[in-house]
Amino acid sequence: MSSSAVDARLGLLTYKNDHESHISIKNQDVCANQCKDKPCVALCPAAVYTWDDVKKNTKVQYENCIECGGCRMICPYLNIDCHWPRGGFGVAYKYG
Ligand code: SF4
Ligand code: SF4
Repeated sequence: MSSSAVDARLGLLTYKNDHESHISIKNQDVCANQCKDKPCVALCPAAVYTWDDVKKNTKVQYENCIECGGCRMICPYLNIDCHWPRGGFGVAYKYG
């Protein structure tokens, strides 16, 4: 699927912000010192993760998350703590 198609699909989503991240990085030192390729940045379909090369840490834009479940697979160091937002919060899918 092209990135524009993904963007179009993401445009069909709304997000009710819990103001509390449901995603966190367990240990930023692992990102900085052990994870060379940083696959979370490339593989998350919603661009939740970005690498800050100045601060040497992984930033998490949790509001972007479409709750696809990919976090369980994309980090080779199991360094992402991701749980679903509280009921009523998080992403909502619109149909039609
Ligand atoms: S894949 Fe995991 S260890 Fe690597 S940068 Fe992302 S969160 Fe950190
Ligand atoms: S659940 Fe999916 S969209 Fe959300 S952060 Fe993980 S990979 Fe990205």
